[in-house]
Amino acid sequence: MEKITMTTPLVEMDGDEMTRILWKMIKDELLLPYIDLKTEYYDLGLEHRNETDDQVTMDSAEATRKYGVAVKCATITPNAARMTEYNLKEMWKSPNGTIRAALDGTVFRAPIVVKGIEPCVRNWEKPITLARHAYGDVYKNTEIKVPGPGRAELVFTAEDGTQIRETIHNFTGAGILQGIHNMDESIASFARACFNFALDTKQDLWFATKDTISKKYDHNFKDIFQEIYDAEYKERFDAAGIEYFYTLIDDAVARVMKAKGGFIWACKNYDGDVMSDMVSSAFGSLAMMTSVLVSPGGVYEYEAAHGTVQRHYYKHLKGEETSTNSVATIFAWTGALRKRGELDDNQALMAFADKLERATVQTIEAGKMTKDLALITSLQDVTVLNSEEFIKAIRETFEQIM
Ligand code: NAP
Ligand code: MG
Repeated sequence: MEKITMTTPLVEMDGDEMTRILWKMIKDELLLPYIDLKTEYYDLGLEHRNETDDQVTMDSAEATRKYGVAVKCATITPNAARMTEYNLKEMWKSPNGTIRAALDGTVFRAPIVVKGIEPCVRNWEKPITLARHAYGDVYKNTEIKVPGPGRAELVFTAEDGTQIRETIHNFTGAGILQGIHNMDESIASFARACFNFALDTKQDLWFATKDTISKKYDHNFKDIFQEIYDAEYKERFDAAGIEYFYTLIDDAVARVMKAKGGFIWACKNYDGDVMSDMVSSAFGSLAMMTSVLVSPGGVYEYEAAHGTVQRHYYKHLKGEETSTNSVATIFAWTGALRKRGELDDNQALMAFADKLERATVQTIEAGKMTKDLALITSLQDVTVLNSEEFIKAIRETFEQIM
């Protein structure tokens, strides 16, 4: 069989620990035999980030902006222990944070649905995609512990010196205060990323805040979404047969529990933090989630939602067998290859991505899976495979359906 050719390279961001091991296995077994793989390679492994003073992370983000599609392996975010372990010059920032800031993106996460790994919520038949705004609110707050009686005020001073002033509370005793903010520009880019993603995946979009209580702050989110929808997206949504739907956050939560799935749920930063953990754990496992960063400029970065699986890596280093689930990393590759195929009108590449995903799902549905899934599956005859055997089993299924 002739290998599939590519016209534009993917930006390939290699990473750390167990996921770096899986990365190479996936390329060797599932990609290189079938695709004349064109990538611009950036090694975001911690050692190389340290050698380059983290310049490699910035360069990889720049390359993503240039080419439009990247695939990223999980990476270590250094902490004190990693400083010693890797003898680091500095406690380098989270690569995901650096890339997100450079691309101004929104993160979309969706469960990979497989028969035999059932969601706890019985009526969820299709995946629910969480879209989380990744800027501001309580994550960029200013707090005061109020020591005793006094007046708290909210003051804005314009560049010309004029002020807007509101009393927050007249304290008669000790208490607490918090100031939070967001920016119209960031909210607008969040809204556009959500609308574009809904059109891309042909799914309805839900958005919810607490605008009945937060009449200016949350209401501003609601208004910006509605203005952008009416001006730029309504016609395209109508043509695609999909819907934009706004409701209150408590109503959204109630409806989500009763829904069948198959939609995108856009959440403010805090709601997205909390709700994405609820949705992903109800669907089964972090290793069964896709994750993509979408920027309003039409740039895409695909990754796994989980980390570098450090505990398994240390077992691997000791020569012990591991059973690490590679599904999320495989789907990061297929997501990126499909998007590259779409942008380049490369039908063969898109079909390859679809088939590899199908082969992965069918392998699990045939009872061949890693240990994490074997522990939660409802299937009866299950074979637990090690990290490498699982990837090889997917290759066998792939060869059969080709
Ligand atoms: P982790 O890699 O997500 O793994 C935590 C635990 O979850 C594992 O020990 C394992 O449980 C289970 N698990 C996660 N992924 C799995 C998979 N693919 N297959 C099977 N089991 C899986 O989190 P961590 O070990 O706490 O963090 C390790 C490093 O990852 C940290 O340095 C952190 O900075 C980094 N991190 C990176 C990203 C990213 O790049 N996107 C995200 C999060 C964390 P058992 O041990 O019980 O088998
Ligand atoms: Mg969280």
